[in-house]
Amino acid sequence: MPHEEIAPGSTAAADVLAPNHPLALAPVGAPPTSVDGFVREFLHNLNFTQGVALSTSSANDRYLALALTVRDYLMARWLEDQRRQTERQDKGVAYLSAEYLLGRQLDNNLLASRLTEVATEALAACGIDIDDLRQQEVEPGLGNGGLGRLAACFIDSLATMSVASIGYGIRYEYGIFRQTFVDGHQIEQPDAWLTLGSPWEFPHPEAAQTICFGGHTETYDDDGVTRSRWVPAWNVKAVPYNYMVPGYHNGRVNTLRLWRAVATNAFDLRIFNAGDYAEAVRAQTFAENISKVLYPEDSTPQGKELRLQQQYFFVAASIQDFFAHVLADDYDLAKLPDRIIFQLNDTHPVIAVPEFMRVLVDEKGMDWDAAWAITQQCFAYTCHTLLPEALEVWSVDLLGRLLPRHLEIIYRINDEFLLAVRERFGDDEMRIRNMSIVSDFPERSVRMAYLATVAGAKVNGVAELHSQLLRDKVLPDFDEFYPGKFTNVTNGVTPRRFIRLANPRLADLITEALGAGWTVDLERLRGLETFAEDPEFRARFAEVKAANKRRLGEVLRERDGFTVSEDHMLDVMVKRLHEYKRQMLKVLHIVTTYEGIVSGRVEASAVQPRTFVFGAKAAPGYAMAKRIIHLINSVGSVVNDDPRVEGRLKVLFPPNYNVTLAESVIPAADLSEQISLAGKEASGTGNMKFALNGALTIGTDDGANVEIRQLVGDDDFFLFGMTEPEVEALWAKGYRPSEVYQQDEQLRRAIDLIASGAFSGGDRTVFEPVVSNLLYDDRFMVLADYASYIEAQHTVDAAYADQDAWVRSAILNVARTGYFSSDRSMRDYIDRIWHTPPSY
Ligand SMILES: *Cc1c(COP(=O)(O)O)cnc(C)c1O
Repeated sequence: MPHEEIAPGSTAAADVLAPNHPLALAPVGAPPTSVDGFVREFLHNLNFTQGVALSTSSANDRYLALALTVRDYLMARWLEDQRRQTERQDKGVAYLSAEYLLGRQLDNNLLASRLTEVATEALAACGIDIDDLRQQEVEPGLGNGGLGRLAACFIDSLATMSVASIGYGIRYEYGIFRQTFVDGHQIEQPDAWLTLGSPWEFPHPEAAQTICFGGHTETYDDDGVTRSRWVPAWNVKAVPYNYMVPGYHNGRVNTLRLWRAVATNAFDLRIFNAGDYAEAVRAQTFAENISKVLYPEDSTPQGKELRLQQQYFFVAASIQDFFAHVLADDYDLAKLPDRIIFQLNDTHPVIAVPEFMRVLVDEKGMDWDAAWAITQQCFAYTCHTLLPEALEVWSVDLLGRLLPRHLEIIYRINDEFLLAVRERFGDDEMRIRNMSIVSDFPERSVRMAYLATVAGAKVNGVAELHSQLLRDKVLPDFDEFYPGKFTNVTNGVTPRRFIRLANPRLADLITEALGAGWTVDLERLRGLETFAEDPEFRARFAEVKAANKRRLGEVLRERDGFTVSEDHMLDVMVKRLHEYKRQMLKVLHIVTTYEGIVSGRVEASAVQPRTFVFGAKAAPGYAMAKRIIHLINSVGSVVNDDPRVEGRLKVLFPPNYNVTLAESVIPAADLSEQISLAGKEASGTGNMKFALNGALTIGTDDGANVEIRQLVGDDDFFLFGMTEPEVEALWAKGYRPSEVYQQDEQLRRAIDLIASGAFSGGDRTVFEPVVSNLLYDDRFMVLADYASYIEAQHTVDAAYADQDAWVRSAILNVARTGYFSSDRSMRDYIDRIWHTPPSY
């Protein structure tokens, strides 16, 4: 990664921290301190910030002191990067995302600053096991799943690649709920992640922005020009909380800025002065609700008013912040496209488009056409779905009440857009209705994906197949109208967190084989192909996998009281619970195998021992998803305790799947389940993490599975199921799942066993909704792909029986999937969309 060195003691460094300060800018390339130095700083923080002696300190005191110490060593770089970015005004990226699923910060920041060994030794010298402190950190669960984790991977890559960028989002007080199980049912607990202190954030109340809502608009005469202005009714304060985003070993520290809603004084004082204390507090609570909690719906947003408030709150704060603190005061607004690109992570931030127009036109006095031309170059939109129910829509009624000026702006954008469509395609009313940003059915509402597509310089899907379907099926008229606007950027994952931190044993083995450097140039993993042919390397790779299984066993024993048998194949399906992802298909495979044994048709001893690991949260209002969770747990309790199975099948469902659990589970997996109905999973990123950690995939031709299979090759990937065109053809022809059930005896036995009450203490009603859903309303074609899935699982068993060949395949999976580094995704965004030259 190219970057200039700053000599410690240079004037630039002096501006940041006093040159003789022990934490002043150190050269990149070596640990920034010695063990002794680290001990001193750690004890200093323990004594002077936590206010405790080592002997009386709690684990939380020690964790906080450690975090502060690590933070201090990143500080000079962070300050320096802020200074340089302000000074240079290079073109940069503002990534707008309502979610960041960051995972724990301590380990990542130790790795980035080369302090892992030094800190481990320093703490040992103080009689502390650093692992005990790692466990103290509550991960900030500020996202639901793949979309939020993607944002976290992207900001890591941008920092590692020295791209000028800032991430903007919301500092939810309560992140994604903590999942527990009671009698197999999901129970949600609030995620109070801030209660023990949050050492990684820097609040800046002095830099708060005021965000307005409600009211009405009016026109006025501005020197003969009629202009509109917004007269809002109420406002809240947006307080920025900054987080460090350190690059890997490049001395770069970017910023993630998350906004917290706080009541404005004007807002509550007026009422307070009127003597109604309770009302003043209520008003304050009302304002602060905006950043109180992350909505737990993944892929199926509910059109809730508070959610629209959240969306506008964070993008308005970010745009104001950009103009007030990021952009130089004297910057020529006509040149904004040379300075900034706002990347919209899905439709959640799309209200930024009319907000940007409002700022340019109403506040900066720019003429509409000029402002619109600039806006269309300053935004780009990433679509993350194909599910129609996931495409966000806001009712005109709600928008008009909450953001009346924005609604006017959206109407004008739409009028001008439809005029251009008419000019191009003639008065094709059907097409005009289909393309209109404002739709009339089922109620008058704004289609946010259409607004983003009209405004965006580029629109990208997140895997080749998804981008193609986006153009062909979701937005074909727009693709025709805007040739060249649509593009693809296949998702990726950061190898820092998902290999280096999650799988240190594999990381060491790779470094031994290939040398250092692969962490920031993941295509180098190709070099492992030749090692796959080396029996000694295979043995060592197998030992890494075995050690990771033992480590997972320790984690799950401690956490949930589970045991993991080392001689079992570890078959893993971890992701949000959603019908389109088809956890039900996995359940049917387990029940089929179990039914074969208990009916006596299959000898238990002939069954490949497998441990099935599930991890999945269901949206609290998603009844079918919660029933499926209950079913998985119920199948587990029956199968795990049935002596006829001879311990050869185990179903483990550790609750509360999150990034921390992913980091333990994925490196231990043998088999990765990526079994969504073709055409439904936009990309997936879990699939990439597994392949990079040496699990083989059983998967459909969906999302990025397609590209994984192309790279890995058919011999080392278990493909099954219909293709997307086959799915379409079956729908067209008429799909009757009950006929599939009638015609497939094995399937019938499995479903009948569930329906019989075998997993519900004889009560046939408990899982009746799941069964009838499969038989009569199988929207995701579980039954249609069942036979093919079971057959592919037999192929898996046969392949696993030859361990040496399996390990070779696993190594080839690692060797051939370097493409899925989020560094490569970032390069693609830069080349195809952002055109941000590499900065210093
Ligand atoms: C990677 C990841 C996801 C996304 O998984 P998919 O299989 O792509 O849906 C969700 N949650 C967590 C915690 C993750 O780390």
